[in-house]
Amino acid sequence: MYPDTFEGFAVHSADKWNQPKRFEFKPKPFGDRDIDVKIVACGVCGSDVHTVTGGWGNKNWPIIPGHEIIGEAVRVGPKVTSVKVGDRVGVGAQIYACLDCDTCKEGNETYCKQQLDTYGAIYPDGTLSQGGYSSHIRAHEHFTFPIPDGLQTELAAPMLCAGLTAYSPLVRNGVGPGKKVGIVGIKGLIIRSGGIGHFGILFSKALGAETWAISRSDRKKADALAMGADGFLETRVDGWNKPHEMTFDVILSTASGDDGFDLSPYLSLLRVHGKFVAVGLPEGDGWKVKPQSLLGNGCFIGSSHLGSREETLDMLKLAAEKGIKSWVETVPISEEGCGKALERVHNNDVKYRFTLTDYDKQFKN
Ligand code: NDP
Ligand code: ZN
Repeated sequence: MYPDTFEGFAVHSADKWNQPKRFEFKPKPFGDRDIDVKIVACGVCGSDVHTVTGGWGNKNWPIIPGHEIIGEAVRVGPKVTSVKVGDRVGVGAQIYACLDCDTCKEGNETYCKQQLDTYGAIYPDGTLSQGGYSSHIRAHEHFTFPIPDGLQTELAAPMLCAGLTAYSPLVRNGVGPGKKVGIVGIKGLIIRSGGIGHFGILFSKALGAETWAISRSDRKKADALAMGADGFLETRVDGWNKPHEMTFDVILSTASGDDGFDLSPYLSLLRVHGKFVAVGLPEGDGWKVKPQSLLGNGCFIGSSHLGSREETLDMLKLAAEKGIKSWVETVPISEEGCGKALERVHNNDVKYRFTLTDYDKQFKN
């Protein structure tokens, strides 16, 4: 038990992915810039499901998922400057980078060759990293974020992965007043959901851009408009793109599948040199891109991975200032609660994110 060991709810094999069991583990050795966080809430991400079901080929069992973590700093290393014991802090989907290479120094630590995921990764000393369905997490201060006072814990947790994945490419691609932005993927008819698209709408609006939701069906139109979208495009309608051709500056695609996905009508929406940024990571190989399809408007296609520390802090500040509210359902943490939440995310039965809560009822110290 803490401070020597932490406890959590671990999945032991892919065939039992929805039956996490209580599990005690030893964290990595405490470093000078490390912080121990006593966890109070954690979001349930689509990546948790990809990992525990073995869909991403996870080999490091047992695994405690969770990378949208909020808690209280209970121990800080002697060289920590940004956090004090007692502070409310968050930890997202990245737990390590070298912080010394050119990429890290440019504020691109999410692209560092040595970057490690919050759970399921092996630290240089051999320790397996474990996530936030647990009593505590030990994290380097660079990946531990003070949470502004204005934000409610359950609503802020999902911002640490899903929110940042939407926020970073929006700001990096100049989204702001006077820009017209499309957000592809509002809520899946498919399994595995996390709702990055819903953060796309919330943050694009908060940044001041005209924001359109783009979805395969109008099932979520009322929700998208309630989130603040200025308009809604339904891609199964013939000629859906025509009235908006060459009017969008940026399109952020969170599409997690590529069944029947035809890129050309989306690209036709872009103004000259507009950008199509795909953060969704379809498992298939349905994407076909030819230079000819980029010629009509000279558009660019790219992607984006999570976001930097600086962007995380900016996003949280913006969310606090603008009173941005994630759409969240809470679930008390337990073996059963974690199993049910994973199952419901797998079955796309969540609006739009789960946050695990009530940690004090399961973990006594
Ligand atoms: P969701 O399932 O909540 O959303 C995915 C959306 O994709 C759905 O809302 C659906 O929108 C759309 N979609 C699915 N299949 C298709 C298709 N064949 N054609 C067009 N649109 C489609 O998932 P999340 O928001 O949790 O995650 C989205 C993706 O982002 C995942 O692939 C995930 O792995 C990835 N991801 C990437 C990260 C990064 O750093 N780049 C970080 C975290 C996750 P609709 O039904 O409205 O059309
Ligand atoms: Zn995630």
